[in-house]
Amino acid sequence: MDFFSGRISELIEQLAMLPGIGTKTAQRLAFHIVSLPEDKVEKLSRTISETRKHVRYCAECFTLTDSELCPVCRNERRDHGTIMVVETPRDLAAYEKTGKYEGVYHVLHGAISPMLGIGPDDIRLKELMKRLEGDVKEVIVATNSTLEGETTAMYISRLIRPTGIRVTRIANGVPVGGDLENVDEVTLLRALEGRTDL
Ligand code: ZN
Repeated sequence: MDFFSGRISELIEQLAMLPGIGTKTAQRLAFHIVSLPEDKVEKLSRTISETRKHVRYCAECFTLTDSELCPVCRNERRDHGTIMVVETPRDLAAYEKTGKYEGVYHVLHGAISPMLGIGPDDIRLKELMKRLEGDVKEVIVATNSTLEGETTAMYISRLIRPTGIRVTRIANGVPVGGDLENVDEVTLLRALEGRTDL
């Protein structure tokens, strides 16, 4: 099935390994890439490997960034006493796109899933509890409304309740089973505004 040269096939294969990219899209991308001027391709591949090399977790919220603190945590105008807990940096990006949330975040990098063997110690929960030793007045749990997301929300609420800090859960405006990043901004804002105490 090798219609193209070995190198092109290899490029298609590599691109097809990326999430959301099927073989057809991979082919289109590969042919686009090989038709670009060499310096453009050079820049693209350099950007990919340099980004990979320098990316790290924010020391405070654990989102992906390339400095000690991410831009949100560095921003003194943000309300550092309100922490929204999300599963992934993509969820953080979805809420940032609304431009209406003024607090900060905490990225768990996953959700509790007994089925997949992911327990509380496998996500950034200890780090969240450590942050709560500071001056925090509300934790908004914005994990997905999947079974894992709900399990995680319940676990977090049980963990935080004894501290007396207010714990809220975003409203059910977010479709069940839906990834936060695929939800439009209006729905996200409605879910945030309609949050209830846990
Ligand atoms: Zn941060």
